[in-house]
Amino acid sequence: MGRMTATSRPKRVLLAAPRGYCAGVDRAVIAVEKALEQYGAPIYVRHEIVHNKYVVQTLEKKGAIFVDQATEVPPGNIVMFSAHGVAPSVHKEAADGKLATIDATCPLVTKVHKEAVRFAKEDFDILLIGHEGHEEVIGTSGEAPDHITLVDGPEDVANVTVRDESKVVWLSQTTLSVDETMETVDALKEKFPQLISPPSDDICYATQNRQIAIKELAGQAELVIVVGSKNSSNSIRMVEVAKQAGAPDAHLVDFASEIDEAWLEGVTTVGLSSGASVPDVLVEEVLEWLSARGYGDVEIVKTADESLTFSLPKELRRDLRAEAAELVKE
Ligand code: SF4
Repeated sequence: MGRMTATSRPKRVLLAAPRGYCAGVDRAVIAVEKALEQYGAPIYVRHEIVHNKYVVQTLEKKGAIFVDQATEVPPGNIVMFSAHGVAPSVHKEAADGKLATIDATCPLVTKVHKEAVRFAKEDFDILLIGHEGHEEVIGTSGEAPDHITLVDGPEDVANVTVRDESKVVWLSQTTLSVDETMETVDALKEKFPQLISPPSDDICYATQNRQIAIKELAGQAELVIVVGSKNSSNSIRMVEVAKQAGAPDAHLVDFASEIDEAWLEGVTTVGLSSGASVPDVLVEEVLEWLSARGYGDVEIVKTADESLTFSLPKELRRDLRAEAAELVKE
């Protein structure tokens, strides 16, 4: 048998594993569902519980109400904080507004908050690598606003100033590109040679694993599709990582219906993955869409096993409706 050329090779999909839901997202989504079951609708949720359109719409149908601020929630109600975490001032707003709270902050974000608090107590200047305006960065910065300076990528390093170059530490948002973050850290280290690194990785296991898997398949695919929402930091990073790893074309889509048939022109191999806030049903829909166009052959590209799970927020074990009613009486 002669060698197969790219054009004679059968069309196929390389499906990344791991992909989709991480432990923090899984916990946050189940927390909203459990709260609705346990306390009844409505359950108010401050900001999107996770950055995924489908998840938010599904929970809305079940009785969750998403608000921008805790101050919008009527007194005597329950408000849940999203997986991205909140600043201490938001906890205070909820208490002032006589709200019972459920904190669905991912434990890996809480870990970064605790690091920020500890280094601030020791009077370090904290250089927080992250994207300006992202909810997680706003929450972490709120833990120690006088000590934290945001560094939004390597090009931002030139503007950074500190009080004492011997007391500087960097921390980061959990959902960044690993490679770009290391570039920023290298630039910071050049400027501040005594810069201290965080005690353990701030970029979480799920973000790292999804980037490793997408790198693995990007070099073999002419087109990479990442399922995820436009405001999902880790999903956007996956598209960037795919392009940097050699994929000639890569796109982020919320749903199969957003895929443009023109992207498939001349494409033999499609790489497919999904961000940490994406339920697998959306990937299955993309697989069906691709199969209908001749890409029925699916090969799994597995680079890691994931088994981490987090227990549900402790507040789900209490009677929060009664607590909220008491708060209004006080
Ligand atoms: S992406 Fe990472 S930090 Fe964010 S919720 Fe998932 S596990 Fe937690």
